[in-house]
Order: sequence, then structure tokens, then C-alpha cells
Amino acid sequence: MYKPFSQADYKPSDKPKALYLRKSKKASGKTEIETIESHLKQLTNFCEEQGWNDYVIYNDYVAKSTDLTRKEYKKMLKACLEGKHDLIIVTEESRLYRSVNEQTNVYEELKGTDIVILSLREGYIFPNDRNQFLPNIIRGAMNQQELENFAYRMNVKVLASAKEGKYVNKPPFGYFKDKDELIPHPIESKTFRFIVDKVLEGYVIAEIIGQLNQLGYTTKSGKKWKDVGTITRMLANRVYLGESHYYSKMFDEDIIRRDTHQPLLTIEEFQEVQNMIKSRSRNPQGIRYTKINTVLDRLVVCGICGNRLPLHKSWTNKEGVTSYQIGKCQKVIGEYNEKKCPNKSISLNELLPHFYNAIESYKEALREEIKSVDIDTTNDKKISVMNQIKDIKSRLAEIQTEIQNAKSYLIKGILSESDYVDLVPPLEKDTKELNVKLEDNERLLASLNDYDRSTVIQNAIDLLGNIENESIEDQNRIYRLLFESLELVNTADEFEIRLKEKDVSHH
Ligand SMILES: [Zn+2]
Repeated sequence: MYKPFSQADYKPSDKPKALYLRKSKKASGKTEIETIESHLKQLTNFCEEQGWNDYVIYNDYVAKSTDLTRKEYKKMLKACLEGKHDLIIVTEESRLYRSVNEQTNVYEELKGTDIVILSLREGYIFPNDRNQFLPNIIRGAMNQQELENFAYRMNVKVLASAKEGKYVNKPPFGYFKDKDELIPHPIESKTFRFIVDKVLEGYVIAEIIGQLNQLGYTTKSGKKWKDVGTITRMLANRVYLGESHYYSKMFDEDIIRRDTHQPLLTIEEFQEVQNMIKSRSRNPQGIRYTKINTVLDRLVVCGICGNRLPLHKSWTNKEGVTSYQIGKCQKVIGEYNEKKCPNKSISLNELLPHFYNAIESYKEALREEIKSVDIDTTNDKKISVMNQIKDIKSRLAEIQTEIQNAKSYLIKGILSESDYVDLVPPLEKDTKELNVKLEDNERLLASLNDYDRSTVIQNAIDLLGNIENESIEDQNRIYRLLFESLELVNTADEFEIRLKEKDVSHH
């Protein structure tokens, strides 16, 4: 450290001393507040040693603040200029100014006064001594460079740690940090799992927040959960997949390391959670906050045009029982939008028996399917299915070419009409059969690829097993979890309902 001048002959007056404190980089092993308290103690101890019992403390430390207004500094400066102090005491010069720019400003403000600065680190500084001006500024420049080098070294260190796969950010909810590594927190990780399970069960985040608080699960800081955005952002954080992400602003470098710690989510769960949150937030009217009135809320669509059908209250009788009506389809169709979709309205009471019948058939079909689903999804099987798909596709392309050729030969007169009739219809029949086979194989491949179909079916059977006894809200939630929609066709000469299963295979 550059200590350029002798300070032996200076004797301060009896005026109260000004002790100035400001937020600094915290000492290692101490919190910010502990650091500032220890600085204050250093200053008061020093005063005591000197026999200076009259001092005023000016403290610009504000917790967590990047406030640059320095209110206390201004108050102190005013008191100095009014003649109340002639000595400012700081632990080090950088408390008063951190850059040469700030330093010259301070000197400018103290110009023409007899104010002296006493730094425990640097000694006496005389801002108004012409002979000290240059050494003071040089020392200030060196201090500034030291601070900047420190910041640079810190950033290099953090970046290097991140590259090594150490976790350099604050530990996220669900984990604690042990020697730069994330370890699942015994309680928080359970809370996290609870949240994930509830999302997958179809609850919206606002409902889950209520459940968390009821069960006494708290946030990392021990508070009640309240913000939907906090949980949504948390669930989108890839840290739960065992990945460590760090962005260095100074070097504009993005570091991603995988498998740095134990994941709390599988990639399948992560994607499903994202899909569920996304599919709900796409709701344009925000109707997810409205009350569920019937088991078919938000489920019924027009089976002719795909339009969502309104479900509204029709009337309430003397006993207070409300009836509901599915409105007629309002969509205009036809090439010139010249006609209305023919789907008529129907009362919920009339529709529900058909719906429950469809659910019964659906359950029956699932029970049948689970008997035939092959649980052993080996890689060999996948490859053989993929090869079959490849074969079917190339055969389909060949047939297509043969049919095209036959047509052009017929037109050119190379092929007689009777030959054409012998040739083409069998090819068309083959195409049809191959397409069915292709579809089957693609479905099979999908089930092998992404999920164990039997688990999905078993889950659906379990959910539907006791559904009559669930509340209207829960029934509706389960139906919406399993089904994309209930398609309704209800015209003058046709009535049909179709349950449209949700695609849970991520294709
Ligand atoms: Zn329609």
C-alpha cells in the first residue's frame, strides 16, 4: 500500500469526530451486517484509544441496497461545511470514494476547508494540501485498480468453478449447498415433489398454493407460499434435472453442466409439467379461475366443426336445483360462410346418461387393452417395429408409382381398360391395408418410445374406478385430465358422442 506522507505533526481539534461507514465487500466468514458492525467497532475502539469520546456516526449501510444516494454522506458533508467537524474517520479510504472520479468529487466538495480524513488503513489524508494532491490521486487510482482487479478475479474464479461443474448460484428451493454441490434438502425436496405430483394430477398452481399452506409446507425462508409465478418459474428451472446453469455477465458466457447433482425430476416429468402449465395458460378468457359447475365444464366440443360449445345455466327450480344447457353450435360453415353448423342445443340432464355410458364403454375398452399390451418394451422390439414401418412405407411408395404409371399408360393407350381394371383396384386395396398396418405400427412404436402404455391405462382405470363418488370438481378434473374433449353431434337426424382421449405420448 502506498503511504506517501508523514503524519506526525497533525493534531485534531476538540470538535466531535465524524465516523463514516458505507457498505463494503463483506469480510470472508462474515455477513454484510457483521462486517459493518465490525467496522464500526474498529472506528469506536480507535477513538477510545486516542481519548476521543465525542463523535457522530454517519452510516450509509443499507442492507441489500445498491442505493447510491449516500444520504448520510451528504448529511456529514453539510455538517463539515458548517464547521461542526474537522476530522472524518473511516476504516479505509475506499469507504469515502471507490473511484478516482468519486475521489476528485469529494476533494472538490472539501476544497477551501480545513477538513482532514483519517483512514485507519492509509493514515491522515489532507485533501486541501497542494503537495499531497498528486500522490493522493495516484493512490486513489491504485485503489480503484485494486478493486477492479478484485472484481475481475472473483468473476474469473466463479466462471472457472461453474465450468468445473460446481454450483455457483444460490441454492434453489429443494436443495442445500454443501461444498459447492447441491444436495436434496430433506424437507424441501418433499415439498417440491408434492407440488409436482399435484400439477400432474391436474391441479392449477393457485389450488396447490392453498394446499401447501394448509399442510404447513413453507418456502425456503419459512414463509407461506403466495405467488403463482414463483412456482411456475421454479418448475421451469432445469436445475431440477440435475443441470447447473451459470451466466457470466462480465464474460458473456453461458455455462451448462449436466449431471452435477441429484435430479428431483425426470425429463418426462419436466416436459409433462411444462405442457400442463402451458396448456392451461393458453386459456384466452382466463376461465380457469371460474367455478366448476358441472362434470362436463370445458369439455364439450362440436363433433361436426370442432367448435367449443357453451355450457350455461338454463334455470333454477324452487328447490334451488340448477339445470344446465349445452348451447347450439354458433359456427358458420360452408364455402361462403353461408350456413350455420347444424348442431342443436341439448340439456345436460339429457346428455349425461349418454356420457356415463360412454365412460363405461371406455373403461371396458381399457380393461381389454391392458390384457393385450405387451409390457416388455425392449430395444430389439423397437428396432423391429421401426424396420417394419420402413418396409411398409417403401412398399406404399412403390404401389403409388405403379398406380400413377398405370393411369398414364391407360391415358396413352398402352394399357387397355380391362387390364387397368385388373391391375389397379387390387393395388388400391393393398394401399388401404398397408395404411392400417402402418398406423398400428406407428402407435406401437409410440407406446414403446415414450411411455409404458400399460401404466397409463392402469392409471386411467384407477382414476375412473370410483368416479361417481367424487365431487363435481374432482370428476371434472379427472375427465379433463384423461380427455381432450367430448365431441357431440346432435343434429335433426344424427346423435353421437365421442370421447377424445388425451395424447399423453408426447408426439
Ligand atoms: Zn359446429
